[in-house]
Amino acid sequence: MSVLENIKESILASNSIVILTHENPDGDAVGSSLAMMLALKKIGKKVDVVIPSLNKMYDILPGYEDIKKYAEENDNYDLCIALDSADLERLHSCKEVFEKAENTIVIDHHITNQNFGDVNYVNAAASSTCQNLVVVIGYLDIAISKDIAMCLYTGILTDTGGFRYNVQIETFEIAAMLLETGIDIAKIYRNFFDLTTMARTKVLGKALDRLELLSNGKVAFTYITKEDEEKYDLMDGDHEGIVNYGRDIENVEVSIFVRQIDEKYKVSMRSNEYLDVSLIASKYGGGGHMKAAGLTSNMSFDLLKQTLVAEIEKQLK
Ligand code: AMP
Ligand code: MN
Ligand code: MN
Repeated sequence: MSVLENIKESILASNSIVILTHENPDGDAVGSSLAMMLALKKIGKKVDVVIPSLNKMYDILPGYEDIKKYAEENDNYDLCIALDSADLERLHSCKEVFEKAENTIVIDHHITNQNFGDVNYVNAAASSTCQNLVVVIGYLDIAISKDIAMCLYTGILTDTGGFRYNVQIETFEIAAMLLETGIDIAKIYRNFFDLTTMARTKVLGKALDRLELLSNGKVAFTYITKEDEEKYDLMDGDHEGIVNYGRDIENVEVSIFVRQIDEKYKVSMRSNEYLDVSLIASKYGGGGHMKAAGLTSNMSFDLLKQTLVAEIEKQLK
């Protein structure tokens, strides 16, 4: 049986389904989760989407109001579907929900995916999990409504940085098909790329103020502290995009952005042309893609900075 047949059989045999995605969820994570939920509800399934912490910028997406923060204590799901997550650890506090489910399906587009489900649909040649989901929903014979299209388009748009990176011919073909449902693409673009809050703008100001160039101007580095987080009452996702400012400076190959969470540091790295930041992220327990990767570290701030810059210098031309 093909993977798609296995997915169809597993979904049709289940009544109670839970959908999970990675922590610090992005547009592809939330978009794919809501699209899958809306599609499965159309064929009469009981579906929960569980996302413990979520930025309110996602509130324009259909189904947002139905997202649960926690799985119900006594909910026993027949099936768990994990989306946009390369491994079990990325599910973070929802890991147990996945492990408790009778059957599991993984749908993703990360090259580093560990195939940790009973059935795994991992196509790393696709721009986004949402792009892969179009194939899965099509195979299930579920029509893509305007609401589903809005969620799927959001994932494709955000994971490709506005149709810039990792775009295939199919990406545009699928986008055209989604546009036919009548979705407002200008509204979606503004919501995820332009619209901001005063807190996000202020914290960006802090990060830009601290931005420095290292390694002969090839590396841009900046950070925000726990004090900043508290002062501006930041939510998950409020840091999205800060790393791009360093990347956009002329001659910079790699941009690093560090954010303090409790006693740990969360690192985002972006490269411009040739440097593979996923290799560095993977070496220190993280992962991602060649030009966009991340990790969480227990090192001290100074050691972390030194280590990352030294690893980057090994690859710099
Ligand atoms: P971010 O910098 O958080 O936007 O993440 C960039 C890319 O790296 C995304 O594709 C994530 O999937 C991946 N990534 C970020 N943090 C981690 C982590 N701790 N473990 C594995 N992959 C990560
Ligand atoms: Mn993601
Ligand atoms: Mn993705």
